[in-house]
Order: sequence, then C-alpha cells, then structure tokens
Amino acid sequence: MNRLGHQAAAQATWLGVCTFERLVVDTPLTWQHVLAGAIVASSMCADDWSPDADQGGYMAKIIPGGHRGPTHMPELVAAVLFLLGRVAGQDLDWFVAAAAAAWGSHLFVDFFWGGIPFGIATLAGNKKRIGFKLDTGGPAEEVVTTGLTCIAIPLAYIALGGPLPVQVPLT
Ligand SMILES: [Zn+2]
Repeated sequence: MNRLGHQAAAQATWLGVCTFERLVVDTPLTWQHVLAGAIVASSMCADDWSPDADQGGYMAKIIPGGHRGPTHMPELVAAVLFLLGRVAGQDLDWFVAAAAAAWGSHLFVDFFWGGIPFGIATLAGNKKRIGFKLDTGGPAEEVVTTGLTCIAIPLAYIALGGPLPVQVPLT
C-alpha cells in the first residue's frame, strides 16, 4: 500500500482510539491531545519512522533481512512499543498510543497488501509471509483509502468532543 493508504489507516486508527476513549472509557480529551497524536500517527505510519524504515535510506543499510523483514514482525514491533512505553512514562502515554496506531495499522494493512513475516522464524532467515497479495495502488487500495479517509471525519468530530445528536449511554 502507498503512503496515502498507510496515512489514512493510521489516522482512522488514532481517531478511533480517541473516539473509544471519549465514548466508552469516558476520558475527556483535549484538542491538543487529539491533534498531537494525529500528527505523530501520520508521521510514523510510513517511510523512515515506520516499519518501512527497512525499505530505503540510511536505516535500510543497518537493518538486516531486507524489506518486510524484522521491522514487520508483529511481536518485535509490540516489544519495541512496550519498551517505548516504559521509557516514555505516563505523561507521554499518548505518544506511545499514537505510535502504536501508526505501526499497528501499518502491519495490519501490509498483511492484506503483500503479507507480513512469519513471526520469530524471520530472524532465522525464513522468508515466508502470511497474509494476502492485494495490488499496491490497485482498486481495492483506492476503495479502502477513500473509506478510511471518510470515516476519519466523523471520528475526528466525536474525538474532539463535538455534540452528538443522541446521548450515548456510557454505563
Ligand atoms: Zn511495510
């Protein structure tokens, strides 16, 4: 999937998390929280600060295993996020959540557009991928990207505390 698709997925995921926090967990979110997370999710969903750091540039020379190698292993990504959470502490938990939205949605999308590595076996050189092989830039990508972009609009509205036509029962 191209950058625009990853971006649409990351934004919808982050705004979905914020909407969930507002409606279900009943956490009051500031607009700064929602906006800062959207920027982080958008910056970290593709290219050098995403699992695709293995694809080009300086990082690709350091990371072993080629494209969609270790940086696309779900368990490794989860471990890095866990460590990031420990280092960041409570004040920056939103940052870790936004990074998780970016990287998690990246792997989820890659699962359908080409597949992701076969778990820990990747470190032993296993090149097997699990997932599907939808065409990058193909019609399915266009539909999903448009859909995710459209859904981000009401999610942003709710996440930012926009008044709802019906009162959602919280408890
Ligand atoms: Zn990728």
